[in-house]
Amino acid sequence: MKQEFLKQKQYSKKAEAKRKELMLTDSEYRENRLAWRRANYAKNKETIRAAVKADRADNPDKYRKSEKKYRDSNKDKYYESKREYRNFIRNKVFKHYGGKCKCCAESTVEFLAIDHKNRDGAKHRKELMGSNEAGGSHRMRLWIIKNNFPKTFQLLCHNCNIGRERNNGVCPHKLGKR
Ligand SMILES: [Zn+2]
Ligand SMILES: [Zn+2]
Repeated sequence: MKQEFLKQKQYSKKAEAKRKELMLTDSEYRENRLAWRRANYAKNKETIRAAVKADRADNPDKYRKSEKKYRDSNKDKYYESKREYRNFIRNKVFKHYGGKCKCCAESTVEFLAIDHKNRDGAKHRKELMGSNEAGGSHRMRLWIIKNNFPKTFQLLCHNCNIGRERNNGVCPHKLGKR
């Protein structure tokens, strides 16, 4: 903590000198710096990426540590952005497949799931993730986007999904009122 503080202090002193030298206001200096960094990154994207990648391969612990540190000190933010990202992916995929249950038109997001039309979901999950465990929906959705929304998927609510599963591939809704 103390070290962090010292580092920051040192940095801002140096930055402060530079800022004065360039006769810029605080925000001007910050904007300039950001713009310079972005331009530099854009110009040397490949080199920088390769360097970081190589460094990461040489010092995996360093990166693991700093990532963990970031996660720990931004827990709420980290998990919230992760959640937001997952929701974004989920909504994108659901929307593509019509946004409601193909069978009964249920549209409450929490009730919906992507269904393998050919009932080969277990096999697919196993290929994709090495197991057929529950979860992994997010990875499946990413896969669907990456593969340009194959027509072999549809959106079903959990009721219709299970109904179909237990009725040999036909949702009981389809049998009419009994
Ligand atoms: Zn349904
Ligand atoms: Zn149904």
